[in-house]
Amino acid sequence: MSEILVLVDHVDGNVRKTTNELLTIARRLGEPSAVFIGSGEAPVEALKKFGAEKVYAVDDAEIKGYLVAPKAEVLAQLAEKCSPAAILIPSSAEGKEIAGRLAIKIESGVITDAVDVADSGVTTQSVFAGSFTVQAKVTKGTPIITVKPNSAAPEEVAGAGALEQFAATISDGAKTAQIVASQPRQATGRPELTEAAIVVSGGRGTGGDFTAVEALADSLGAAVGASRAAVDSGWKPHAFQVGQTGKVVSPQLYVANGISGAIQHRAGMQTSKTIVAVNKDEEAPIFELVDFGVVGDLHTVLPALTEAINERKG
Ligand SMILES: Cc1cc2nc3c(=O)[nH]c(=O)nc-3n(C[C@H](O)[C@H](O)[C@H](O)COP(=O)(O)OP(=O)(O)OC[C@H]3O[C@@H](n4cnc5c(N)ncnc54)[C@H](O)[C@@H]3O)c2cc1C
Repeated sequence: MSEILVLVDHVDGNVRKTTNELLTIARRLGEPSAVFIGSGEAPVEALKKFGAEKVYAVDDAEIKGYLVAPKAEVLAQLAEKCSPAAILIPSSAEGKEIAGRLAIKIESGVITDAVDVADSGVTTQSVFAGSFTVQAKVTKGTPIITVKPNSAAPEEVAGAGALEQFAATISDGAKTAQIVASQPRQATGRPELTEAAIVVSGGRGTGGDFTAVEALADSLGAAVGASRAAVDSGWKPHAFQVGQTGKVVSPQLYVANGISGAIQHRAGMQTSKTIVAVNKDEEAPIFELVDFGVVGDLHTVLPALTEAINERKG
């Protein structure tokens, strides 16, 4: 069976859920080989658990902070060594840039933002603000595919996890820009918006009071999102904005509260698997899109819903 390279998404060696999703998808295509670029011991056990047959460990001591160019070189050299049948990369801004650079280096086709990859290598993407669903396939070289978070449910399957150190040669050209300082954003205790399985959002209809939205989000272990109207009003920072000029999310469940459903908001959430809306106007366009809709005041509906959820959990 052919190797499928999976670039590991991790924070200080802690493997993120997106990696488990990619390993799950990789198993449809061949034998997953995880590529860990980082310091210290590679998280072999965590990667084995989701089916990694091999783990290539690349020490990043020399390239740490040098943005994406060295990572593209590492993957290009690994691709030359093992001739993989495909390379899967998380669809973050960084991942997409690595994919683009890698595609040039190994003269291969690249597909970004896939929401599914079939065992034939055919990908599914949602394009033009979600108005079209497209199937595509790389026709030249080694398919390089960036996959969006939540595109597969991670499946635990034991892999061999054979560890191999890989020493890449990084060119001076890949080290021309370096991060000199970085501070992590203050943790909210909630999941990352683009990776969360459930997103609860609030719009202008909250009137600026997100208490009920946040309480519902916490009862569901969800991330909090916001419409642009809420962000422009200064109720939430831009990092919370869902939509065309904000973040694009594709969770299992999206709950829109006091959001009218403008096309630019839909562009960021309409590929969500199940959509629920609470809006006091039964004519609100968001109701054209929903699986479940509640016509009512969010300040009444959400506390009742949160209470019911907490009771069931208890
Ligand atoms: C170039 C461009 C890019 C844009 N990008 C984005 C983007 O990325 N994301 C985005 O969201 N928008 C974006 N917009 C803005 C978009 O067009 C809408 O203006 C915006 O989404 C409206 O936000 P909203 O639904 O919160 O507010 P509104 O449209 O004002 O809707 C508020 C809704 O709340 C309901 N409501 C009021 N009170 C209650 C209550 N107590 N309980 C329940 N329901 C209540 C109302 O019935 C109404 O439907 C963009 C616009 C442009 C032109």
